[in-house]
Amino acid sequence: MHDPKLQPLPKVTHSQLLLRGLCCLCPNCGHAKLFRSRLRIHHNCPECGMRLERGDGYYLGPLCINYAAVVFTFVLPILLLGFFGCIAIKAALIIAAAGALLLPLLLYRFSWSCWLTIYYLCLPDELHANRSEDCDDLSFEEDRRSPGT
Ligand SMILES: [Zn+2]
Repeated sequence: MHDPKLQPLPKVTHSQLLLRGLCCLCPNCGHAKLFRSRLRIHHNCPECGMRLERGDGYYLGPLCINYAAVVFTFVLPILLLGFFGCIAIKAALIIAAAGALLLPLLLYRFSWSCWLTIYYLCLPDELHANRSEDCDDLSFEEDRRSPGT
């Protein structure tokens, strides 16, 4: 595990954040994968210790990304093809239902990674690596906002 007290991490640029997001890696250090199992995200990064899963309500971001991706890129187009007669309506309903059940599972990891990437693109100073060198406070912003967790 990387100890931020011993060796500071280099600052993270927007392009690095995007690349780490595409590869489902920790947005702070880029060394560890975000997930400890197929559907379980690490609570804290095993390399740098940054908190990844923040509990209450934080899962809503990935949920919205997952829902929007499934509905607007798969289910709705398939249903429109069925309603306009390009494919049989019965087939469209079956394909759309199957996609609505399977795609959220397939996109789960990527939607988490997208959410973390968007979050830290909007708030890059929340990454420990992007803190100023004279900053003595090594706790993460979210840790300070939620004492006792
Ligand atoms: Zn990390």
